[in-house]
Amino acid sequence: MPSTEQEQPVALNNSLQCSSCGATLHFAPGTHHLQCSYCGETNEIQETSTAPIVSFDYLDFIAGNNGSAPSLSASVVSCKNCGASTTLPPEVNSDNCAFCASPLVIADAQSRQLVRPHYVLPFLVAQAQALDSFRNWLKKLWWAPNDLTKLVSGDARQFKGIYIPHWSFDTQTVTDYSGSRGDYYYVTETYTETVDGQEVTRTEEVRYTSWTHISGRVEYDFTDLLISASNSLPQDVANRLEPWALEKLVHYNEQYVSGFRSEIYQIDAEAAFQAAQKKMEPIIREEIRADIGGDEQTIDGFNTTCKDIGLKYILLPAWISTYKYNNKLYHFTVNACTGEVVGERPYSAAKIAFTIIAVLILIIAIIVMVKQ
Ligand SMILES: [Zn+2]
Ligand SMILES: [Zn+2]
Repeated sequence: MPSTEQEQPVALNNSLQCSSCGATLHFAPGTHHLQCSYCGETNEIQETSTAPIVSFDYLDFIAGNNGSAPSLSASVVSCKNCGASTTLPPEVNSDNCAFCASPLVIADAQSRQLVRPHYVLPFLVAQAQALDSFRNWLKKLWWAPNDLTKLVSGDARQFKGIYIPHWSFDTQTVTDYSGSRGDYYYVTETYTETVDGQEVTRTEEVRYTSWTHISGRVEYDFTDLLISASNSLPQDVANRLEPWALEKLVHYNEQYVSGFRSEIYQIDAEAAFQAAQKKMEPIIREEIRADIGGDEQTIDGFNTTCKDIGLKYILLPAWISTYKYNNKLYHFTVNACTGEVVGERPYSAAKIAFTIIAVLILIIAIIVMVKQ
């Protein structure tokens, strides 16, 4: 692609312009087309590639080789409060940060060359459906104040559609370990007891563990291990938004992003891979325990080698917003692929106290019944 084309801001790309009125077309969630919000004109999205969805070599990628993908030029605005850098729809001329709600200084937006994402999971859930998901979520909250659903109804216009950057890793791991296997065995032992002043000899089965040193090797293949590349959306929120329908990924195409914000990654591929290794560790430990076998296991040490590391740089869709209850602000995020809601929420102290008292009364009632 000639460099002059790359340097054009996203907004001026012809494929994003309405052929009847010239306005910017927006991607319509759940469809395969762009829509003009002024005259209603729709444009089918032309896929940029029919190639299969594959991973790219991680080592090549961190060496700066992103296949043949050209970089992307976009106007980026950074949040002074939480550090999120996002692209904005071109018609937005005043906005608050989607993550922390701080005002953004649009005048400070800068044109930047960005790493082009490999794939995008297009928005499936539209703004109005996201509002329904949010209201259902509110209704189903346990121990929430009674007036919560009366006072909070949500406002779809305040839902910010944003693509959150993620790294997806595939790797084949080989782990050499050393540890011990504990096998239970039982010995019949005698003991004496005093019953009604008489010494009585009784027997019982006593459990012992025999330990054997074991070393070995386990292999485990990870696919699509997701690490959020955003520092602004907390990692535990990102984890709880999983699973994503990754089979619906399509080749990155700016038409799918049109009308939405898109966050630029803050966690690079190398830092993300370190996080991925931490996420792999408990699974590898489970594999080692299964390999050691026996009734109990101890792991003294292990060393994992990751082979054939593949990576995808992907954008995942979310609606982010806040609600106010009792003058306190609560953040929530809707997975715009599944409708899953993850959010902060108020608790009713009275309901929790009532539940604890009810449980205590129940326990006492059971004890009294058992004694009788
Ligand atoms: Zn139009
Ligand atoms: Zn922010």
